[in-house]
Amino acid sequence: MLKIKEYVKAESLAQAYELNQKQANRIIGGMLWMKMGNVKIHTAIDLSGLGLDTVEEREDEFVIGCMVTLRQLEVDDRLATLGSGILRESVKNIVGVQFRNLATVGGSLAGRFGFSDVLTALLALDTEVELYRGGRIPLAKFAAEGAGSDILVRVFVKKDDRRCVYLSHRNTKTDFPVLTIAVSSGKNGIKVAAGARPQRAILVTEDESLKEICAPDIYNGRAGKEAIEIYAAQLASKIPTGSNMRASAAYRSHLAGVLIRRGLTALNESGKEERGMKDAD
Ligand SMILES: Cc1cc2nc3c(=O)[nH]c(=O)nc-3n(C[C@H](O)[C@H](O)[C@H](O)COP(=O)(O)OP(=O)(O)OC[C@H]3O[C@@H](n4cnc5c(N)ncnc54)[C@H](O)[C@@H]3O)c2cc1C
Repeated sequence: MLKIKEYVKAESLAQAYELNQKQANRIIGGMLWMKMGNVKIHTAIDLSGLGLDTVEEREDEFVIGCMVTLRQLEVDDRLATLGSGILRESVKNIVGVQFRNLATVGGSLAGRFGFSDVLTALLALDTEVELYRGGRIPLAKFAAEGAGSDILVRVFVKKDDRRCVYLSHRNTKTDFPVLTIAVSSGKNGIKVAAGARPQRAILVTEDESLKEICAPDIYNGRAGKEAIEIYAAQLASKIPTGSNMRASAAYRSHLAGVLIRRGLTALNESGKEERGMKDAD
């Protein structure tokens, strides 16, 4: 059972940060994960009064406050333009709508959960996080190192040309994923984020030998089936997997190859469509 002795609705980030320096105190997001544990908290620090529950669109990026809910990620039409709607796609299988109305982006990233759909999807985009003291750092660095006693304030996602595909495999529809894969293709090459391995999500990129040939071909929809298979196998071989009650390491590794191949095939198809449209112009 979760026990909280005191509750403070923070009036500033400085106050929240100060309170969070005590080990017995904790920042609360939607509290959905926190309430599952047997934890004693001295002071629960609530950030909900600090205006961090909005999505702002700037010329070159989106700024997502840490108290934005997963449901906001799902239904915000502006965010749907990012990476072929990858954010919407990544959260849609997380429990249910009522749950997603409460779970926050801040809690989802700060928890650095191995099974996180949100972390996997954001890694495939050009994402940074802002820590109150630590400033702006790449999400991949944050995922590896965590926030310590800092506060994750905002998430920044660059607008760019990349197209994305998000795929997850679940044993039953709303269960934790067995594997999550996000594939993105842009002018700078292909990126694959893999989560629920069952360890925390990581980012893998192609070898230089394939980058020159396959990545532009997939982006432009000119890659053949065989090339995609070789490319998918190469990327999948870079993803370390493990076993847990949901699946074995061998199954996850096989799945990684299959999901990456499907992702690359879909990106190649969308490249073809875009080329078709350009040719028709
Ligand atoms: C039953 C269940 C099923 C789930 N299934 C999935 C799933 O299939 N896929 C998936 O991706 N996720 C899943 N989740 C995770 C969920 O989506 C959220 O990521 C999780 O609940 C954390 O979000 P929260 O807002 O509830 O955070 P909280 O539980 O409030 O906080 C989580 C942690 O983050 C810290 N924290 C919160 N906000 C901040 C901040 N701004 N700065 C620093 N630290 C902060 C808290 O102190 C705490 O340690 C599941 C969770 C549950 C309970």
